[in-house]
Amino acid sequence: MAEYDYDVLVIGAGPGGYVAAIRAAQLGLKVACAESRETLGGTCLNVGCIPSKAMLHASEFFDAAKNGAMAEMGIETTPKLNLDKMHDQRLDAVDGLTKGIEFLFKKNKVDWKKGHATFQDAHTVKVGDETVTAKDVIIATGSSVTPLPGVEVDNDKQVVVDSTGALQLAKVPQKMVVIGGGVIGLEMGSIWNRLGAEVIVVEFLDQLLPGMDGDVRKEAAKIFKKQGMELRMKTKVTGCTVKGKKAVLTLEPAAGGEEETLEADCVLVSIGRRPNTEGLGLENIGLEVNQRGQIETDHDFRTKVDGVWAIGDCVPGPMLAHKAEDEGIACAENVAGQTGIVNHDIIPGVVYTLPEFAGVGLTQEEALEKFGGDKAKIKVGKFPMMANSRAKTNHEPDGFVKVIAEAESDRVLGVWCINNVAGTMIAQAAQAMEFGATSEDIAYTCHAHPTHSEALKEAAMAVQGKPIHV
Ligand code: FAD
Ligand code: NAD
Repeated sequence: MAEYDYDVLVIGAGPGGYVAAIRAAQLGLKVACAESRETLGGTCLNVGCIPSKAMLHASEFFDAAKNGAMAEMGIETTPKLNLDKMHDQRLDAVDGLTKGIEFLFKKNKVDWKKGHATFQDAHTVKVGDETVTAKDVIIATGSSVTPLPGVEVDNDKQVVVDSTGALQLAKVPQKMVVIGGGVIGLEMGSIWNRLGAEVIVVEFLDQLLPGMDGDVRKEAAKIFKKQGMELRMKTKVTGCTVKGKKAVLTLEPAAGGEEETLEADCVLVSIGRRPNTEGLGLENIGLEVNQRGQIETDHDFRTKVDGVWAIGDCVPGPMLAHKAEDEGIACAENVAGQTGIVNHDIIPGVVYTLPEFAGVGLTQEEALEKFGGDKAKIKVGKFPMMANSRAKTNHEPDGFVKVIAEAESDRVLGVWCINNVAGTMIAQAAQAMEFGATSEDIAYTCHAHPTHSEALKEAAMAVQGKPIHV
């Protein structure tokens, strides 16, 4: 131990980094974790997953009271929005959970080094004014908002904001333009739409939610329109000027054409995120990033530099907290000489709107491509939520569950769901796929009644053409 201050130094305390640090400590290693933010938990706990879900959850209740969903069940009320209080409960959630990580660090004897970390060499890292040496270094620096040229974000002014700014708007905008119809745009757009804003989503592509199954993307457009959002597809934003409390955007068809302007009192830029790999001193250790700024690793999360590992949003793959966490655990196990593995083919993705959109494995399009476009090689079973007794009883008719299986082996290749508990339901599908389940395995598993999950069973039965309730 004399040679280095620590066995492991983790850079970044997001879900990738803090989980890696804790697992490495659990495995008996001496661990430090460098974090430049004032609190632990990274993007996810501070300005991402957690605060967005706090606002989604609260706004869901407001909307249910306002749009008549509660009245339908005999609860008559006229809601009054106290936005400050809604923000307070968001901040409470963030505070409680970030302090929870601090507690876990203390419990597991992980030393928190406060400050920005820069490599001096592969085993020496400057953190603020301190120099820390470690036998192994795990880079878990996460990602930040991708800027849109010509549309300058200023979260303080609250006119043109990114996701962090959109979480903390002091008042409900009258008209909000969301640039990018991906996960952030639709989650944030839903929050402010529910609280009373007119929301217009401007999306470059012809469909929302890139990466999701084609049927899911089509249905998403119908659902969000029904909820009152205006969707401007195949459109790009070419510029933005801010005058006082108003922004004026210039738009053009994605393929080029006549320009138009659109005025809004809030504009959200949500066109993706990019890895945090600048300012880390990677040049000092001879580690190059790829064209997207990501650090490439092998299957064990080793970079090309001996003793330097990387995980989470700063490496290729979906930018998701649970993917970062699983990589954190596996990487720490590999550093400790064990065998840590992540099955990147089975990473669920969830959009936490209402209904929720969730999927795992291959989309129908990807499954077809895998078999050279031969439709006979795959089987698809689909079951509408309208025919699920629990969803129907709860007045939640929107959505479906879809199971895609390989025709010959019946092995499940992908599962896609739209319903109010899709984010929870998808765990069952992921676990089944992890165990190599066939659609028959799911169809013959007893599912409790009445639950939304019965729709997954029925979709699996539909793969063989024999669902009961449709
Ligand atoms: P991060 O969480 O980004 O953490 C990296 C940390 O490293 C940061 O705290 C940063 O300050 C620190 N750091 C960076 N460079 C240095 C340095 N040189 N020195 C010291 N510290 C450094 N994902 C989901 O799965 N579910 C969701 O519901 C979800 N919702 C989201 C909502 C929003 C609004 C956003 C923006 C993201 C959301 N995500 C969600 C994505 C999720 O937050 C990320 O995938 C996840 O946080 C990545 O974890 P990470 O550990 O790789 O990086
Ligand atoms: P995204 O990639 O999900 O969506 C960005 C959208 O913007 C795409 O549809 C893209 O076509 C569109 N776009 C790109 N350039 C454009 C332009 N100039 N004009 C109009 N549209 C344009 O990115 P995001 O929504 O910013 O989210 C970033 C990351 O954060 C995602 O990778 C996501 O995984 C993660 N995240 C996850 C969750 C969740 O798991 N629930 C929630 C929020 C964020």
